Amino acid sequence: MLDPTEPATNELGAWDRDHLFHPSTHMAQHARGETPNRVIVGAEGVYIVDREGRRSLDAFAGLYCVNVGYGRKSIAEAIARQAATLPYYHAYAGHGTEPSIRLAKMIVERAPAGMSRVFFGLSGSDANETNLKLVWYFNNVLGRPEKKKIISRWRGYHGSGVMTGSLTGLAAFHNQFDLPKAPILHTEAPYYYRRADRNMGEEAFSQHCADRLEALIQAEGPQTIAAFIGEPMLGTGGIVPPPAGYWPKIQAVLKRHDILLIADEVITAFGRLGSMFGAGHYGIEADLITVAKGLTSAYAPLSGVIVSEKIWRVLEQGSDEYGPIGHGWTYSSHPLCAAAGVANLELVDELDLVANARTVGAYFKGALSDAVGGQRCVGEVRGEGLLAAIELVRDKDDRVFFDASEKVGPRVAAALLAHGVIARAMPQGDILGFAPPLCLTRQEADTVVDATRKAIAQVMAER
Ligand code: PLP
Repeated sequence: MLDPTEPATNELGAWDRDHLFHPSTHMAQHARGETPNRVIVGAEGVYIVDREGRRSLDAFAGLYCVNVGYGRKSIAEAIARQAATLPYYHAYAGHGTEPSIRLAKMIVERAPAGMSRVFFGLSGSDANETNLKLVWYFNNVLGRPEKKKIISRWRGYHGSGVMTGSLTGLAAFHNQFDLPKAPILHTEAPYYYRRADRNMGEEAFSQHCADRLEALIQAEGPQTIAAFIGEPMLGTGGIVPPPAGYWPKIQAVLKRHDILLIADEVITAFGRLGSMFGAGHYGIEADLITVAKGLTSAYAPLSGVIVSEKIWRVLEQGSDEYGPIGHGWTYSSHPLCAAAGVANLELVDELDLVANARTVGAYFKGALSDAVGGQRCVGEVRGEGLLAAIELVRDKDDRVFFDASEKVGPRVAAALLAHGVIARAMPQGDILGFAPPLCLTRQEADTVVDATRKAIAQVMAER
């Protein structure tokens, strides 16, 4: 850990403003010193510590990723052992390393039925890039060169690359970047609370979403639509569980038109919803599954595309016809990251974290609802497992939202931080998101709930 009294570390703030280009940051304000730069120096369990010695309960697990919590020695030791034995070898042309082979087997064993192989990358974004290429390759091998368009959803989040930023359905990730690119299309978000017709029931709203999808497919021509991508439960777009009946109705449309389904489980895989996979949780039959974050609990960067048997057979046919697949990264199947993944999944099993996410998640959501759910400014408390959100509104009864310029969500998140808890002000709407480590205890959940109640009261009193 860095010693904050060291002269060198006192200069860190200046070096940071002068040299580091931060993602998702107001660049000018940061460079001018108008926004705080917080340097994190250590962490243990569900707490992080910054160089001023402030300790915060990280109720967002970094970026929904440190699922086993901080300070897990078995993962650190597995990475160190692998680094000492074999820091790197590539996976091209049939080469392999022991941890990546072992991890692929562990993933397929945990995945829903019908999955076959794992292609490893380093981030959720690159895994979704792989997905798109595999979908296009698949349809080319099958002699359907026209079937190439991909449908995503408004408010979906699938990364911030060129194609994955296009899949993402949030304005902040498109503006000034000339995104989205063709052939990406977007359909309605399954966001029941924000439905236009407030008299519509949940099942009827799910049918409405399926009808909108069908209409888009018909307008474009079913023979041109290759795949649909969705998070089992919307994440960065607002942390929104699907309304009742949503996935069966969507899948019926996709099956009718022979459209592949990509389940983006970067947040949900390995226990976040209280089930091993979100696909299993909601009965989704995916052709491709994206995993990242919880695969290594972010102890090392690693993602994966889990390929179904149905896709794999066509990929094999493709390489018989066209030769080795022209796709891969230098760091695909990186052994240090894979070693972290093996140790992490072992820990998830050993500590029974999937069950903990289910039971403590239910307790947490119940306690949040009890503490703030009745307030006029709380439109909805929602979630599944240890993924939850509070939708803040001006008036619950009339469902009137705050003006974005009031920045109510970010102000509540800032007040919460002052009370020692990190939650995330979600990027579109006044939505406070929670995704704590899956090892959260009931006492720690109580700490989060208590601080949330105080932070909301404080910001509402200031308005
Ligand atoms: N897909 C989902 C559902 C995500 O939540 C994220 C990141 O939050 C991504 C993809 C992109 O992952 P990365 O930031 O590792 O590129």
